[in-house]
Amino acid sequence: MSTSHIGEDFTPIEDKSMIRYKCGKCGREFTALDLEYMPSIKCPYCGYRVVYKIRPIGRKLIKAI
Ligand SMILES: [Zn+2]
Repeated sequence: MSTSHIGEDFTPIEDKSMIRYKCGKCGREFTALDLEYMPSIKCPYCGYRVVYKIRPIGRKLIKAI
């Protein structure tokens, strides 16, 4: 096990723009940054509470059953 020390100045804020969600109702996509302004996780466009997390890497098509 090796641990690499990262400076304390480092903030993982960039991750928030990498994490993407898709609304289960209107189908719009948004990032975790958009959700920062929301009191809870829901679509910032239509307010629907069911959102799907989209993997930031790759364009793999995932079928939802
Ligand atoms: Zn929506």
